[in-house]
Amino acid sequence: MSPPAAAPDTAALAGCEALLRPEGMHHEIELGGIRLGYRLRRASRRTIGFAVGPAGLTVSVPRWVGQAQIDAALRHKSAWILRQLAAQGRRHQAHQDARVDWRDGAELPWLGAPLRLRLAPLLSRTLLQAARPLTQEPATLLLALPADTPPEALRAAVQRWLQRQARTLFEARIALHAGAMGVQIRQLRLSSARTRWGSASSDGSIRLNWRLIHFPVETIDYVVVHELAHLREMNHSPAFWAIVHAAMPDYEQRRRQLKDGVVPVFD
Ligand SMILES: [Zn+2]
Repeated sequence: MSPPAAAPDTAALAGCEALLRPEGMHHEIELGGIRLGYRLRRASRRTIGFAVGPAGLTVSVPRWVGQAQIDAALRHKSAWILRQLAAQGRRHQAHQDARVDWRDGAELPWLGAPLRLRLAPLLSRTLLQAARPLTQEPATLLLALPADTPPEALRAAVQRWLQRQARTLFEARIALHAGAMGVQIRQLRLSSARTRWGSASSDGSIRLNWRLIHFPVETIDYVVVHELAHLREMNHSPAFWAIVHAAMPDYEQRRRQLKDGVVPVFD
């Protein structure tokens, strides 16, 4: 006798209307106690296919298949469908949690600790251009902006500030590690790619993602050392990792922090 299948973690679906009532849905079924809407596509194909994405479930069926057969196929596949939907729900939740509410008092991570945004419209005109942090608990970024600043304008101002911070910090960290590793860089550029933290080219220039500024300096240092090591080995060979390890014996731990970290959503 086989053990009962583990109940899918449907709690992750609670409140996820985009997944349970997908846009353009025209069919519904009850699976595992959940009323689930889905899109049905008729196509010239031989089998019934299921796809779960950020917009919920899509079922593709051959033109000749009737509703009873579709329902049976959905029930047969229900454990897989609910697992996929729950995974989508968790991804959606993580994304929501990382979303910054762009208004006075909002917080976002800066160098691995919370940074609170304060709108300070009475700051002098000079400070209007030079937003500066005050070291308190948590650190506060005073922005000389009116209280009714639209979220997009606040986001843009904070992003500019973070990018300036990133450049200054990255330059200092590169100077520190490049000296110790015996390499020289020609140029530093900031990037803002979603999925890439850094890159190096054989002409000696390095790109670092400004979003790294959300992480602790130890984590940023790993990316700096990684890219500097590429100036000696333009690959991920054992020789490359030996250079990284010599410069930073605990690099694996820092690398994990980078992978596990959640970066705020700026849009
Ligand atoms: Zn690399």
